[in-house]
Amino acid sequence: PVVDRHGGEPGQLVQILREAQGVVGYLPAAALTAIARALGLPRAQVEGVAGFYSFFHLTPPGRYRVLFSDNITDRMLGSGELLDRLCNKLWVERGKVSEDGLVSVDTTSCTGMCDQGPALLVNGQALTRLSGERVERIGELIRAQAPLADWPAEYFRVDDNIRRRDTLLSAEWPAGAALRAAIARGGEAMLAEMKLSNLRGRGGAGFTTAIKWESARRAECHAEADGRPAARYVVCNADEGEPGTFKDRVLLASYADLVFDGMSVAALTIGARQGLLYLRGEYAYLLPALRENLERRRRSGLLGRAVCGQAGLDFEIDIHVGAGAYVCGEETALLESLEGKRGIPRIRPPFPVTAGYRGQPTVVNNVETLCKAALIALRGGAWFAGLGTKQSTGTKLLSISGDVETPGIYEYPFGVSVNQVLQDCGAGNAQAVQVSGPSGICLAMHEFSRSIAFEDVPTAGAFMVFGTHRDMFEVARNFAHFFRHESCGFCTPCRVGTSLVANCMDKIAKGLGTQYEINQVFKIHRLLHAASHCGLGQAACNPLFDTLQKFRPAYERRLCSLDFEPAFDLDQALAAARQMTGRDDPAAHFGLAARLPGVT
Ligand code: SF4
Repeated sequence: PVVDRHGGEPGQLVQILREAQGVVGYLPAAALTAIARALGLPRAQVEGVAGFYSFFHLTPPGRYRVLFSDNITDRMLGSGELLDRLCNKLWVERGKVSEDGLVSVDTTSCTGMCDQGPALLVNGQALTRLSGERVERIGELIRAQAPLADWPAEYFRVDDNIRRRDTLLSAEWPAGAALRAAIARGGEAMLAEMKLSNLRGRGGAGFTTAIKWESARRAECHAEADGRPAARYVVCNADEGEPGTFKDRVLLASYADLVFDGMSVAALTIGARQGLLYLRGEYAYLLPALRENLERRRRSGLLGRAVCGQAGLDFEIDIHVGAGAYVCGEETALLESLEGKRGIPRIRPPFPVTAGYRGQPTVVNNVETLCKAALIALRGGAWFAGLGTKQSTGTKLLSISGDVETPGIYEYPFGVSVNQVLQDCGAGNAQAVQVSGPSGICLAMHEFSRSIAFEDVPTAGAFMVFGTHRDMFEVARNFAHFFRHESCGFCTPCRVGTSLVANCMDKIAKGLGTQYEINQVFKIHRLLHAASHCGLGQAACNPLFDTLQKFRPAYERRLCSLDFEPAFDLDQALAAARQMTGRDDPAAHFGLAARLPGVT
C-alpha cells in the first residue's frame, strides 16, 4: 500500500522507504525486496538507497530511538554528559540497542535547535532545552514505555527566538500578495525586477538568483522517456543541515506562506508548473503544518489549476522529506535524492538550470532566497537594491548560537559588522566566531571589525560564538568528526581524507600527536581542496586550517614534541664531502626546513 500511495513511482523511493520504516520501525530485508519488486527496481539499488541515509535502519533500532544532537554548541551546553546520564539510567551502551530492544541511544549531527539546546530526537521528534532533570524524566518515560503523545508537550516546544527584525521579519506578508503582484507584472517584467534587485542566493554560494531564473526560463525542456510532458521545475532547498544554522526552520514555521509565494513567483517567472520542497528529515515535525498550509492555498486558489483565476497558470507544490544526509544540501545531491536515489552530487555541467530534476530545467533556491524573491515581487527590485551594500543587496538572517546571552534569529542589512552583531546578542567575551558553519570561516578577535557581506565575510547564516574559555582545538575536532561522518563516500580524496584528518585530531587530543600530524592536516587540506568532487570535501579542512592559523597554541600545547632536534649536525658532517668535490651550491646543503611543508 505504501508503494501504491506513491503511484508505483521509482522516483518516490526515499519517501516510500520513510513511510515503510514508519510501519515497523526499520526496513527488514523482506520489505526491501517487496519494494524493489513493486517498483521494478534492482534489489541492490533499493538497498543502496536505504543504506545511504542515516535515518534509515536495516536492523531494528530500539523502540525508542534517541539521538542527541552532536553539534559543538550542544556539546558546550553539556549534551555529552546528558547522553551518558541517560545511558546509565537506561542501562544501555551508547550506539547499541538495549537487550530487551526497548531503547537505543546515540548521537546525530546538528538537529537545527542550536538556539534552544541541548537537543535530541526521539523517534524523529525534536526535544529541546534538555537538563539533567529532564533527561532523568525522559529515562523514566522510556522505561514506562509511555507513548510520545503522553510525554509533556513542553519537552517538544520549539521557539522561533526572533531577536532582531528588519525588512522580512518586521512585517506581516499576506498569503498570495507577492504572487498576485508577480502575475500583474508578468514573467519578463518579474525577471527584470529580479535583475534590478541583484538578489544573491542565501544558501551559501551567493549565486545571482536572476541569472539562475533567466537560464531556466530560456532553457529548452524535453518530453521525457516515460511519456511525461516537457516541464520546468522549482525546487526549494529546505535541507538546512549546516551545523549552527536554523533560520530556515523559523521561516518554514512562521513564514511558510512567504516561502510558498516565493516558489510560486519563481514558477511564474521561469514557466514551471511543479514545485518541490525538500524538507530536512530533522524538521519532519513541521510537515503537518506545511501540508495544511498548502491545502489552504489550494482552497484559496493560490495553488492548483488556474492559479489566481488565470487560465493556463497551473502550479502545484509537493513536499519531500529527507532522511539524514548533510550532503543533500548540495543542489545536485538534493536533486538525486528527489529522484529517489542516493544523494551523491552530480558532475557539473550540465547545471540544474538546463538539466536538473528529471533532466529538465530546474531552479533550486534556498528557503530564505525564495522569501526575498517574494518581497521583490511585492516592493520591486530597486527597493531591494537600496538595502544592504552594492554587492550584497537586501538583508540577511543570522542564526546565532554559542556563548551569547540571547541566541536566536537576527535579521540585519548586509554590511553589518561582526562587532555590532556580537554586541546585540550579548557576547561579552568572544574569542572567535565561526561564520557559516564548519565549512565557513573562523574569525578571531582582531577580525571582528569585518562585515557580513559577500564581498567580505559571506555566510549562509550560521554565527557560532566561542568565549575566551573555550578550547578552539576541541571546536575544530568536532568539525573534523562532522565531515568524516557526512562525507558521502563517493570520491576517494574526501572519503579517506576526512577520515585521516579526524584520526590526526584524535591523536593530537590524546597527547600523542607531533608536528607530523599538523603537517599532515595541511597536506590533506590542500589535497581535499584540489581533488574533491563537491564543496563538502573542498571545505572539510577549512575549520582546521583557520584554527591552526589563528589559535595555534591550542594545538601546540597538546603535541608531545614541538621540535625535531637532530642528534648531530648533518649539514656540517657533509662539509668534508663538499670540499672534496669542490661543490658548495645550495643543492649540496642538507636543508631540513625546506623539506618540511608548513614548518616556518
Ligand atoms: Fe561525497 Fe565528499 Fe566526494 Fe562530495 S567530496 S562527492 S561529499 S565524497
